[in-house]
Amino acid sequence: MSNEKIPYKIYLSEDELPKQWYNVRADMKKKPAPLLNPGTGMPVTAEELGHVFCDELVKQELDETTPYIDIPEEILGFYKMYRPSPLVRAYCLEKALDTPAKIYYKFEGNNTSGSHKLNSAIAQAYYAKKQGLKGVTTETGAGQWGTALSMACSYFGLDCKVYMVKVSYEQKPFRREVMRTYGASVTPSPSMTTEVGKKILAEFPDTNGSLGCAISEAVEAATSQEGYRYVLGSVLSQVLLHQTVIGLETKTAMDKYGIKPDIIIGCAGGGSNLGGLIAPFMGEKLKGKADYRIIAVEPASCPSLTRGVYAYDFCDTGKVCPLQKMYTLGSGFMPSANHAGGLRYHGMSAILSELYDQGLMEAVSVEQTAVFEAAQKFARVEGILPAPESSHAIKAAVDEALKCKETGEEKTILFGLTGTGYFDMYAYAAYNDGKMSDYIPTDEELQRSFDTLPKINK
Ligand SMILES: *Cc1c(COP(=O)(O)O)cnc(C)c1O
Repeated sequence: MSNEKIPYKIYLSEDELPKQWYNVRADMKKKPAPLLNPGTGMPVTAEELGHVFCDELVKQELDETTPYIDIPEEILGFYKMYRPSPLVRAYCLEKALDTPAKIYYKFEGNNTSGSHKLNSAIAQAYYAKKQGLKGVTTETGAGQWGTALSMACSYFGLDCKVYMVKVSYEQKPFRREVMRTYGASVTPSPSMTTEVGKKILAEFPDTNGSLGCAISEAVEAATSQEGYRYVLGSVLSQVLLHQTVIGLETKTAMDKYGIKPDIIIGCAGGGSNLGGLIAPFMGEKLKGKADYRIIAVEPASCPSLTRGVYAYDFCDTGKVCPLQKMYTLGSGFMPSANHAGGLRYHGMSAILSELYDQGLMEAVSVEQTAVFEAAQKFARVEGILPAPESSHAIKAAVDEALKCKETGEEKTILFGLTGTGYFDMYAYAAYNDGKMSDYIPTDEELQRSFDTLPKINK
């Protein structure tokens, strides 16, 4: 089909929604390294993980052989309220850049939580409900995950306790109120409500909090209360699995019009949207059926893939979670306080880390002022106000499109537009006022953090 016929938005029908998630690990010859028990150094068992996570989610976490996993009817029913999400041909952006490149983006911001996180939140809430639990606990950084989870929990009638990184709790009061409107309780982290929170506050009384701290508190809150489990919005393989609805829909829509992306780009915090977007394409690449250039985009201020080390590390500051082998900056790494764009997690999904280590994908880091410049350009021509996180992908897509302009190549670029930025107006204000600055950690700073990696690597 000729490109002239491609509409601005490609929507699938309800019948074309994926009925199964795709587990890319099944097609990886070399699998991600197993999670380890920090006490014994041995691979964690399903039983050990079952104290922290719901049983069905533990099964998904440890399953590296089943390629397709059925999406339960109840979850499909919820997906239908906001999916399929549109695949947009960025005609206006192409024109503004005067590029021969063809740019597409998959927009995941068309739901109240404003991001892709709802795709996994609803799955995790469903399995918790099915297990007969009272509720779940979690952490949230920028607030998108907490919002998504509070929506999912209210749908299934589950209690939802959210530990919100203190700086975001203070800077994003409206996010907090959205969560409370959906019935969640929201506690700024670190807090005095947990032992680990008290310990962190005793050591660092002025801390702004971090995702790593909030995870430790949420895990403690789950394991110390009857009928609760902990849920996580990114990084884990189960989350990447749920997020494959993004990639599967994209692939179906592109196949319908005979479009094959040359380059696939996504922002990478913990890796869930990128892992979900690329999964079916990576599957073809792993089977030798097709080739794609895949690029992870991360902030220069929190560069886990581009400057981190591939090693076993703690997933949280309190060191209560299993050890995961991943590209990491060290669990003690604290991104600079002036870093406005989200994507602050110190580590990266084990699946993406392994794919990156095998050379199957690339990574670039970008500075935040350049990210907001790209966000503004995009908003002005495409109309959508992008989340700062998503704008990392926009920045990289624009750069690739401008390279095409130089070379005259008509490449097809696909990127993930993960969400909207309505709750990030302080960051936009800093950019609009010319007060945004860039921060890049020094090698010495990173080394200090690497020195705290667990001894198991040595
Ligand atoms: C959470 C979030 C991200 C980053 O998380 P990943 O797990 O890396 O996908 C990106 N964009 C938005 C809008 C988010 O809310």
